[in-house]
Amino acid sequence: MDNCIFCKLANGEFPSHTLYEDEDFRVILDIEPATKGHALILPKKHYANIFELPCEYAQKVFNVAKNMSASMKEALDFDGFNVLQNNGEAAGQTVFHFHMHLIPRYKDDNAGLEMPGKKAAEYDLTEVADVIRAKVK
Ligand code: AMP
Ligand code: ZN
Repeated sequence: MDNCIFCKLANGEFPSHTLYEDEDFRVILDIEPATKGHALILPKKHYANIFELPCEYAQKVFNVAKNMSASMKEALDFDGFNVLQNNGEAAGQTVFHFHMHLIPRYKDDNAGLEMPGKKAAEYDLTEVADVIRAKVK
């Protein structure tokens, strides 16, 4: 993808604060961090979102998240940790190259990442469960 900024960051064509790199991924600091240490895991290959991401990468990306969480915890001594991944505009995705957010959380940091609008379901949970379960492979 010629005009994808995350392709360029992931492959070192644009400078970044790189925390980790292997043959498939680069982990960089987010340029507008939600909290101190907010990082992004970027695959070096272009996949727009989780639907495009091959299973092989999906497994690897969580290994990177797991390892980074331990290193970041040692480095920053935070109180909590969000792993967040947005797909599609409706979900808040703004850069359409798959990425996983690693967000250290500090007591009273007011990062505003709480799940908004949780309420009792206005639809039948059993029906929804049936519809989804029918498609699970
Ligand atoms: P999302 O809303 O999940 O698509 O997240 C995109 C993230 O990319 C945001 O948190 C941005 O702050 C971050 N971002 C955008 N441009 C850059 C950049 N050049 N370097 C680092 N992070 C970036
Ligand atoms: Zn890209």
